[in-house]
Amino acid sequence: MRPEDSRDLTARLEKAALYLLKLDIYRKPDDLARRFSLPVPVVRYWWRNVEDQTKQPVPNRELTPKQAKTIRKASQTLDNWEKVKRYRPECGAKLSNGRKCKHSVVIRQPEGWDLGALADRCRMHGGASRRVRKKKETEED
Ligand SMILES: [Zn+2]
Repeated sequence: MRPEDSRDLTARLEKAALYLLKLDIYRKPDDLARRFSLPVPVVRYWWRNVEDQTKQPVPNRELTPKQAKTIRKASQTLDNWEKVKRYRPECGAKLSNGRKCKHSVVIRQPEGWDLGALADRCRMHGGASRRVRKKKETEED
């Protein structure tokens, strides 16, 4: 997984989580984190960084079709996280025998999520390190 993809994925999760928290579909960041098996510190951090943390609860019957749809989509995005965890991309590092490493890339620790939830390598190949591994193409420019 390229670092950009990982960051996009993480940004989508964050946006979905904040939408659901804002509308008070989940009362606390912790409730949402538990529901979707996201790391609690990450969701707390997202919520803490929102400028305006006032909730705007909308009673179910008063939701506009658009809001209802966005809520559904946001929930799907977060539900998808389970799948992403299970079917992470392969590490792909070159092995000495000429093959590519087939281990799954690492899920970063909460403090690394600003780099993206998923690293681009497995644990063995430096995925758990805090630095983003530079690729050859980025080193050239
Ligand atoms: Zn590997």
